[in-house]
Amino acid sequence: MSQKEQTLKLIISHSKEYGFVFPSSEIYDGISAFYDYGPFGVELKNNIKKYWWQSMVQFRLDVVGLDSAIFMHPKIWKASGHVDAFNDPLIDNKDSKKRYRADELIENYIRKINLKIEKEIKKASKRFGSDFDRDKFHKTSPRINNYLSEIKDISNKMNSFLNNEEFKKVKDLIYDLNIVCPVSGTCNWTDVRQFNLMFGTKVGSVSDEASNLFLRPETAQGIFVNFLNVQKSARMKIPFGIAQIGKAFRNEIIARQFIFRMREFEQMEMQFFVEPGSEIKWFEYWKKERLNWYKSLGISDSNLKYHDHEKLAHYANAATDIEFKFPFGFKELEGIHSRTDFDLSSHANETNKKIQYFDPKSSTNYTPYVVETSIGLDRMFLAVLCESYREDNNGKEKRVYLKIPPVLSPFKVAILPLVKKDNLPEKAKELYHTLIKDFNCYYEEKDSIGKRYRRQDAIGTPFCVTIDHETLENNTVTIRDRDTMSQERINMEDLNNIIKKKLSFNC
Ligand code: ATP
Repeated sequence: MSQKEQTLKLIISHSKEYGFVFPSSEIYDGISAFYDYGPFGVELKNNIKKYWWQSMVQFRLDVVGLDSAIFMHPKIWKASGHVDAFNDPLIDNKDSKKRYRADELIENYIRKINLKIEKEIKKASKRFGSDFDRDKFHKTSPRINNYLSEIKDISNKMNSFLNNEEFKKVKDLIYDLNIVCPVSGTCNWTDVRQFNLMFGTKVGSVSDEASNLFLRPETAQGIFVNFLNVQKSARMKIPFGIAQIGKAFRNEIIARQFIFRMREFEQMEMQFFVEPGSEIKWFEYWKKERLNWYKSLGISDSNLKYHDHEKLAHYANAATDIEFKFPFGFKELEGIHSRTDFDLSSHANETNKKIQYFDPKSSTNYTPYVVETSIGLDRMFLAVLCESYREDNNGKEKRVYLKIPPVLSPFKVAILPLVKKDNLPEKAKELYHTLIKDFNCYYEEKDSIGKRYRRQDAIGTPFCVTIDHETLENNTVTIRDRDTMSQERINMEDLNNIIKKKLSFNC
């Protein structure tokens, strides 16, 4: 098992052992690609939502919130293009009986060529030492140029075949590139078929009269169909955004890699409505804003990158992904799309209603253009775990801790009486009831103090406060820092300010 696979495995087992994420329906042997969030997971998840909501809605004057229903009129999904085009091309390997997304098999092949380019660059940088000019080498090396034209050729072919629904040619491309199944190692593939990712269900008590509905595959359509309701009721002027957090459902063909790809997940989406013609300016604005949001949480630059799309979705005129370096490589964490007026116009056509904005500046009516930012809450949760998982080994014992940004930590402070007697628990509970009004606190009196510290490290609590006999005499406590393990004796009254400082918002 590679080091990277090992890291993901450690994170999965840590998540289960410490009550972050459980496989859904586990006592019935689980159900693939569904997960439950445990007592510490739900706190972390809520904190991520809160941080996003505050920075995207509450701290801004130009974005308002919405919470639309999961079930919507089935015609919405026809107008949005999901009934006809929300498909993945799937292919099976006849020997392993494993199913894959045909485009992912090809993209993984391209990823391997990119790794070869990185290797060439590393080798050259070693050879040339401090004189090495990465950009120049990238442009002039004949080998790298060959790799780049190979990538271009493959992706052009793939995009054109997929766009034109020429699935026989997609299969031939997989054969030509000699792409084998990672499990069986063979090239024995079935034909490529389209598979719609929406879950269908019925509503109504009499089965033959019941209507067919879909569970929403994205939250965005709830925003589009409420555009006029929100704009008028909140008296918003363009440019402005509507944000919402909610569940989305996709019948993913392959759901691997833990909570990265689930069949039921949560999205945090914002649609920003702008004047036609200004969308690319706003697209660039949101690209920067969103990257800065991750940086404000201390996520390192080297683990984040943009991936601009060459193959655009049917509704977009510009698109990029913000990718995070998960243990299984750089993968999409958030999509930013310039969606033109596609959605509002489609709903206007389907309903025969006018969905337009009257611009008082120019005294004209127009259909606004839209820039969307869409982040997967569960993927962000996984990114936070991957970024913060740490193992320290001082030779004697291993310490595992989660260096979660304090603003996201499930608990901000653990309050621990040194021993379970001598009035220390009573004093500690008194402190708990004072601090809990401002911060989420954890109280624990079982086990040795060392064990309790380790447990708080494992769930990412930035501070532990210990109440001992001296506290009873002079109202001082020790405060221990999760990351440095340093301890300091302070006055109990100073606690609130010290913790508050660590929790400040940076975005
Ligand atoms: P992918 O290419 O990984 O399937 P996508 O491009 O289909 O993702 P979008 O439709 O742009 O994803 O959805 C916006 C965000 O929702 C994604 O960036 C991702 O964070 C999240 N998301 C999408 N599908 C899933 C899923 N199956 N499980 C968890 N999160 C998801």
